[in-house]
Amino acid sequence: MCYFAKINQCYRNKDTVMLSAQEAEAIVLNLAQPLDSQRDVETVDLLAASGRILATPVTSSLDFPYWDNSAMDGYAVRFADVENCNSEKPIALDVVEEIPAGYQPQHTVQPGQAARIFTGAVMPAGADTVVMQEETRREGDRIFILVSPEKPQAFVRHKGAFYQAGMPLLNSGTVINASEMAVLATAQCIQVPVYRRLRVAIFSTGDELVSPDQPLSPGKLVDSNQYALTVLLAQMGFEVIRLGIIPDNQQELTKAITQAVSTADVVLSTGGVSVGEYDYVEKILADLGGKIHIRAVAIKPGKPLTVAAFKRDLKNSDAPAISDCLYFGLPGNPVSALVCCWRFVVPALRKISGLGPDAWGPEFIRARCNVELRSPGKRETYVWGKLYLVAGVWEFEPASGSQNSANLINLANTTGLAVLPAAETWIWPGEFVDVLKVSQ
Ligand code: AMP
Ligand code: MG
Repeated sequence: MCYFAKINQCYRNKDTVMLSAQEAEAIVLNLAQPLDSQRDVETVDLLAASGRILATPVTSSLDFPYWDNSAMDGYAVRFADVENCNSEKPIALDVVEEIPAGYQPQHTVQPGQAARIFTGAVMPAGADTVVMQEETRREGDRIFILVSPEKPQAFVRHKGAFYQAGMPLLNSGTVINASEMAVLATAQCIQVPVYRRLRVAIFSTGDELVSPDQPLSPGKLVDSNQYALTVLLAQMGFEVIRLGIIPDNQQELTKAITQAVSTADVVLSTGGVSVGEYDYVEKILADLGGKIHIRAVAIKPGKPLTVAAFKRDLKNSDAPAISDCLYFGLPGNPVSALVCCWRFVVPALRKISGLGPDAWGPEFIRARCNVELRSPGKRETYVWGKLYLVAGVWEFEPASGSQNSANLINLANTTGLAVLPAAETWIWPGEFVDVLKVSQ
């Protein structure tokens, strides 16, 4: 039986199609296709490009520095005039002009002359070297050079020394943070081509769920997943479409899933993907034409992760111009949902959003753990806690309290998930482990 036939057949026994974390990661990254560098691009004003991803490489028609200029407050001189002087035998030059930053020099410096110059000011014609102010003595219109410069061109920043017009400036896939913003501003790139924001729809499923402002009648539970996921996605710069809480009702779920896959690039739902009587999500995904690629992953927490892909008819869709919609049916338990997100969803979203392969992750750090870690040993186990850098060595400290997938309380301040491979039941104090770095 082919893989997909098998995967679509067994709704009630996920163990039969449980993938390793590595297999699941490969499938997810393969399904995650980057936005189109022509179709999925918008041009935004410089400051609006903050945090966005460049969709095309940027070059500039300007050299940088724009002009030959001084790197010091001092005097622009001719090297030949001052190459043999010292404090006992200073050379005196006539100061013919003062050039503040931002002004054009008016004179050509002739032999025996100098120009007072300030940091960033344009070098005058005739001068080839700057002597710093601290190595001179001024008397009226004369300047005494007390130390000969090391070499011609000292303290001159030459036009084009850092960047020449036409060379690559920033690659596509670059995130525009403070330093990239400075580069774009310098290049006078005031209209920036960036990938459009990914649209990610999220909703929670479960008859027991209420929102944080609703009264808690017996048996109810606050929907924390929607809040956690909203923050995670918003901080990654995505457009989040919140579809609320959907009850465990096939009709309502069908409506919500249909709406989500027709309007978003990626859909995240939580709950309803396990093997219980009210876990309808997988069946509905298949009924709606979704191709189920993952039904369960051998990780703890997070086993019942469901991943499906939808092909869309672009002509009949309000959805943004992307041909596929990727659906992640995350487990309902709050820790499981976040672990699956950090491990599989975040790398996929990074890839789809246009980032280069270096930035997809997941990022693992080898860290020492000073306490023992235990795992039942059947599935790859993730222990949540904090990463510290201690005297140049990464250390991992597990969160104290219960490492139970329903315990979201001690998940606060998590910066890493220590990975215990499937066969590993015990990590001794002082041993090194791989830790998945997570963003909060
Ligand atoms: P499920 O995957 O639907 O079987 O849910 C597993 C567990 O996670 C149950 O105890 C649910 O009550 C809980 N749960 C499901 N969805 C949420 C949510 N959105 N926020 C917090 N807990 C949830
Ligand atoms: Mg449920």
